[in-house]
Amino acid sequence: MLRTTLLKLSESKGLANWVTTNGVTRRMSHRFVAGESLDEAIAAARSCNDAGMAVSLDCLGENVSTTADAQRARDTYLAIYDRIAKEKLNANVSCKLTQLGLDLSVEFCEGLVMSIAERAAAYDNFLRIDMEGSVYTQRTVELVKRVRAQTPAVGTVIQSYLYRSESDIHDLLSYGCRIRLCKGAYKEPPDVAFQSKADVDNNYVSLVRLLLPSGFYHGIATHDPRMIAETIRWAAEKKISKDDFEFQMLYGVRTYLQRRLVKDGYQVRIYIPFGNDWFPYFMRRLAERPANVGFILRNLFRS
Ligand SMILES: Cc1cc2nc3c(=O)[nH]c(=O)nc-3n(C[C@H](O)[C@H](O)[C@H](O)COP(=O)(O)OP(=O)(O)OC[C@H]3O[C@@H](n4cnc5c(N)ncnc54)[C@H](O)[C@@H]3O)c2cc1C
Repeated sequence: MLRTTLLKLSESKGLANWVTTNGVTRRMSHRFVAGESLDEAIAAARSCNDAGMAVSLDCLGENVSTTADAQRARDTYLAIYDRIAKEKLNANVSCKLTQLGLDLSVEFCEGLVMSIAERAAAYDNFLRIDMEGSVYTQRTVELVKRVRAQTPAVGTVIQSYLYRSESDIHDLLSYGCRIRLCKGAYKEPPDVAFQSKADVDNNYVSLVRLLLPSGFYHGIATHDPRMIAETIRWAAEKKISKDDFEFQMLYGVRTYLQRRLVKDGYQVRIYIPFGNDWFPYFMRRLAERPANVGFILRNLFRS
């Protein structure tokens, strides 16, 4: 119920305006967002690298309404690759297709993605296309396959709450696509997605078993100790090396678990979001864990 309400509120432009201009809530966003500037994201990336973890940088933004905004986002991503190279960071980039104009035109969006993927390839780096709500899944999978046919520098994300995910994985693997597996962060109806945590988790475990032996380097993105333990157990049983996949977690979530995995010799990548447009991302993080709302309320009343 609380999750549904928070996900609905994440689409409210009015609330977004209030929350992102309020000093107290802006400060609280730092729990999950590295800052508003690229410099702050680079500092966070450096500290993750120093702790033995790779990162993926995401300049927050989604559902742009003009081509100019999408082109500005493209320019930001191009500059991020330049900066990663200059700073010699162990970092790649994640972005959302609706930030690059998917709602405006698939062809236009694909042109921008292609130019970002080419920049990634020029640096021997990588572009991860995040997965958004299910209305975008088909277009995202199709676009990623077309770009992947041109360059290996692109991969995408599959969500274990969707019924279609097993078939999407087979499809994307046939293009040699690297996949990040997550549970899924949006509110989806029962005709497209599992509704119970047990079903989403069971599917997650099945999909891990499809991905790990596929011969491509995938990301297992979760903070769920049960999913992580099962991945570790199954990979060891199948003699899949710790270097053949990576765990991925979000900036600010379960830091102790991130560090423990590094200590145990696993590859770990931290997703570091930054930028002004942090409201929908922040609300999805609150929706994932009701206790996060208590943290926000306590801080609001204290201020
Ligand atoms: C690197 C990365 C990239 C992602 N990319 C996408 C994407 O492209 N598309 C998409 O739909 N979703 C994405 N997600 C979000 C994902 O789909 C889930 O919503 C999110 O990871 C929570 O699921 P979980 O696997 O951690 O398991 P859950 O069962 O939700 O959580 C397990 C436990 O982890 C802890 N936890 C989980 N989330 C939080 C939080 N926000 N704050 C504090 N504790 C928390 C809690 O203790 C919880 O009990 C991504 C997640 C990660 C880690």
